[in-house]
Amino acid sequence: MELTHIFEPITINGLTIKNRMVVSAMASCYCSEDGMPTEKFMAYHERKARGGFGAIITEDFCVCPEAGAFKRLGGLWNDEQMKAYRAFTQRIHDAGAKIIVQLYHAGRQTSSRVTGVQCVAPSAIKDPTVGETPHALTVDEIHALEQRFVDAAVRAKAAGFDGVEIHGAHGYLINQFASPYSNKRSDEYGGTTVNRARFATEVIAAVRAAVGADFPIIYRMSSVEFVPGGLQLEETKVIARLVEEAGADLIHVSQGVFASCRNIIPPFAIPVAGFADHAAAIKQAVKVPVMAVGRINDPLLADTIIATGKADLCAMGRASLADPDMPNKAREGRLCDVNRCIGCLQGCDGELEQGLPIRCLVNPLTGKEDEYDLSPVSEPRRVVVVGGGVSGCEAALVAARRGHTVTLLESSQELGGQWLAAAAPLAKGDFTSFVAWQQRQLEQLGVEVLLGVEATRETIDGLAPDAVILAVGSRPAMPPIPGLREYGVVAQDILRGRAEFGNRAVVIGGGLVGAETADFVAEGGSSDVTIVEMLDQIVRDGEPAPTSFLLERLAAHGVNVLTSAAVKSVEADAVVYEKSGDQVRLGDVDTVIVAIGARANTNLAGTLADAPYQVVSVGDCNERAKNGYRGIQEGFEAGLRV
Ligand code: SF4
Repeated sequence: MELTHIFEPITINGLTIKNRMVVSAMASCYCSEDGMPTEKFMAYHERKARGGFGAIITEDFCVCPEAGAFKRLGGLWNDEQMKAYRAFTQRIHDAGAKIIVQLYHAGRQTSSRVTGVQCVAPSAIKDPTVGETPHALTVDEIHALEQRFVDAAVRAKAAGFDGVEIHGAHGYLINQFASPYSNKRSDEYGGTTVNRARFATEVIAAVRAAVGADFPIIYRMSSVEFVPGGLQLEETKVIARLVEEAGADLIHVSQGVFASCRNIIPPFAIPVAGFADHAAAIKQAVKVPVMAVGRINDPLLADTIIATGKADLCAMGRASLADPDMPNKAREGRLCDVNRCIGCLQGCDGELEQGLPIRCLVNPLTGKEDEYDLSPVSEPRRVVVVGGGVSGCEAALVAARRGHTVTLLESSQELGGQWLAAAAPLAKGDFTSFVAWQQRQLEQLGVEVLLGVEATRETIDGLAPDAVILAVGSRPAMPPIPGLREYGVVAQDILRGRAEFGNRAVVIGGGLVGAETADFVAEGGSSDVTIVEMLDQIVRDGEPAPTSFLLERLAAHGVNVLTSAAVKSVEADAVVYEKSGDQVRLGDVDTVIVAIGARANTNLAGTLADAPYQVVSVGDCNERAKNGYRGIQEGFEAGLRV
């Protein structure tokens, strides 16, 4: 399909952007504690500019020191920062992209642990996700904060940014004012739509007056908040018209607030481009261009959104983490080489929620652009990778990219390993795109892939390697519960269609795999499904956003969840468990599914202990691997180390 729309330039208030693919703002935590750019921050953005994105919007830059919801965000609250960012904007321009800074204040959606001070808001109402009562801003304080936005915008222009994005979305301060969910004021900043939008419109008008008529101002808004009593589309259309009238040149249509965070960063459970219709609705209400965002992970998708008139630009933030070269690949017609964001949230949001800089599961280079060196080695080696799961494939393709001669041995007849079972549960359709992408890269890099080969010490010695990377994975754990081995089927066999399941199923183990398998069989026809979990909660190992969807589906299917319950024995048609000191027998069971975790395969490593070549273990066969993200990361790093 010819991509005729995303490569058409667009001009926003005099700023011509070479294509319609924009990197949306994503908190990266790559800056210094005092809001200054680091080499990591600059290299990360420069990589995307070199990859062909038309414009990049930086992460949320603080307009004052206490504005941030996270530490190590950028800032433009002083002139030293302004001077420091000149080098940054120059680098992005030299790399071929426009660079826009997002200006924000988190309002009540931050904590005193982050800022050291009490948070502020339109009203003294706690944000449910933070739990700290904010100080309700006085009118004088509102005016002072408006001036902070103006000062930051003026510095942005002086620093060489091509425009500013005023962050009026995601439940941050400007959004808090606009929303009846968080704004209970009765003065000129509360009550009516016009009053609630006043903070936004005054900021935009004041910024416009300060930066001049020809400096682009983007307004980012949440079209729907997905909280009780929050903003809905009909009212946000009105707000879009108000901010347009105040001077906004482009409306960036996002959604959600912290309390509905799964809509801000939609996981795989939300369809691709699942909110593009909101952008289309806002577009009908305004004359200025509109930008869509939210799981737009493919150039074809972006082109179609623009072709169908739903938006004028597409913000593709996580798509840029997964593949910063996506625009260039699309322009060259290499669509199958695009490494797609799968919506897992493990590397990006998952790391951020732990207070760590963001990364990406499918692209271990993200956030390490300033550290990892993939240039060819001077002395190529012969590398054997054992195991064709995603960790092994990652190791093989990185080693091959560096010029090593690589042979990959896989005992089954296909690549992907446990990832293929992990991709089977509901709503995880995108997950196999990563396996397809890895296979294509292995082919292009000339890696010799030998399927159906059981690796032994002799097989490996026969290949005369200089280095061996073991990625032989794990096998399902089978604790010594009477009857478990005899009557149980492992979850992965159910998910891969290698075992049948009946009408009345019991899943032993309520971790992510067990809960997803329960969901899978309930959707697949089992009408009576029970999860038995030893801990007091299920899915403790899942990312919060996709887990929330999973728990909703389990409830909708009527899956019976037993926590703090230990299985004592399994019979041909029953499971006996103990809970609160009582033993209970679940009878008439036709399928017992085992999802109690995994044990690392370490046998082969043992036979290689005295091998005359370098041996590195990665992924699930290495006790340190905890999930797909960490396993792939280990594979990548092993490919660099050999
Ligand atoms: Fe997408 Fe997962 Fe990478 Fe985040 S970590 S950008 S969700 S693939």
